[in-house]
Amino acid sequence: MDRQVVQLAVRYHPLPPPHNIRIESVPVPTILHPDDAIVKIQLSGLCGSDLHVYRGHQDVNETHICGHEFIGHVVALGSSFHPGSPSSRPALYASLKIGDKVISPFTVSCGECQYCRFGFTARCVSSLVFGSPALQGAQAQYVRVPLAGGTLFSLSTSVDDPLSLSHALSHLPDPAVLLLADVLPTGLFVVLQAFTHPKLAPIFTGIPWPRNVGHHAKGALLSGNTLPYLSSADRVLDVGIVGLGPVGLCATLALLDYLTRADVRRRIVAVDPNQSRRAKMQKIYDALPEDAKGMSGDEFVVADIADAPKVVQAWGRGGCHTVLEVVGSPSALTLSLALLAPSGVLSSCGVHQAPQIPFAGCELYNKNVSLEFGRCSVHSLFVPAVELLLRRRDVLGAIGESGVVDRVIPLRDAVRAYAKFDQGVYGKVVFDPWT
Ligand SMILES: [Zn+2]
Ligand SMILES: [Zn+2]
Repeated sequence: MDRQVVQLAVRYHPLPPPHNIRIESVPVPTILHPDDAIVKIQLSGLCGSDLHVYRGHQDVNETHICGHEFIGHVVALGSSFHPGSPSSRPALYASLKIGDKVISPFTVSCGECQYCRFGFTARCVSSLVFGSPALQGAQAQYVRVPLAGGTLFSLSTSVDDPLSLSHALSHLPDPAVLLLADVLPTGLFVVLQAFTHPKLAPIFTGIPWPRNVGHHAKGALLSGNTLPYLSSADRVLDVGIVGLGPVGLCATLALLDYLTRADVRRRIVAVDPNQSRRAKMQKIYDALPEDAKGMSGDEFVVADIADAPKVVQAWGRGGCHTVLEVVGSPSALTLSLALLAPSGVLSSCGVHQAPQIPFAGCELYNKNVSLEFGRCSVHSLFVPAVELLLRRRDVLGAIGESGVVDRVIPLRDAVRAYAKFDQGVYGKVVFDPWT
């Protein structure tokens, strides 16, 4: 391991609130458990959910290192890592080596509990979030990764192997690869938890509910049902996206990708109160090739909060089939419900802190609303997110005005970067802790 014992880190201090982050010198982490890895950080991300702590909205009462997105190289491994690691354990315990390049999901997952086996790694029984009092974060020069064999992805397999991650990602800049730690899989997640919902199946299959789901699909019980297949006029999906920060941009790219591959027509309203976020969304959409934008008559409208309901009203079906809520605030939920049609799906990936959601039970009943909430299981969605990154490398691989990653800046400039990101002046920021 490197001889360095002290490192630079961005730390949050609960007092006095808010906006109390500082660049400080702290000890380099060490191995505490046989399953640990120590990673020397090459790049780390600044994320919208870091702002919840920064603004004092999150109930965090301990000083800790911020940040949960990183890419780097392994500099120390616990004793669980050796070629004879049992095959019942995640394979990385047998294969990961010092010097390997790795990327981590923003949460730790064991890969061994039933939640992990089912694919719901975000709710692993041993889950911890980087950048919290429970687990020091990645806006630093080094980070300790618990349960590293179940958590990390190695980017150091042979570049010559056409099936390897390192081969697939070798032509992309590292700040773009860093999107795989959180924002790209989370954008994909908020789309999938809506589009795989049975209520949206009539759009994708043309078959009315419930003949399109489960054992009813075979029609054994409903063979006498004379409901027709849906006409093409009925199969136009109306979608709202509330929040156009980096995850909202990724969600938009994920949903356009999904709809194009499913050959489904669409009308989309993408909403944010911040002018610079709306401008970035429009610029990215305009840069997409025509085949990503659907057919003649499809719509993509970027709107502010006042105009979004008017856009949806003009579509004439009483609201969107689904609204993706990518903010994590009561006001975003209220707008999302207002944009949603009866029998719609409200899909949320925002990190909610408020003690209550802002609707009454009767509002949900009277609209037959389905609520889908929660944290993305990044480990399970990692490979589909890699595939999306490769298909949409024209935008996701760009750094700067035309890409999702806005800028790469030195970690020592983090205090200013937090303020600019909080004001919506900066988009997705990536920190280099070594310049
Ligand atoms: Zn993040
Ligand atoms: Zn687990």
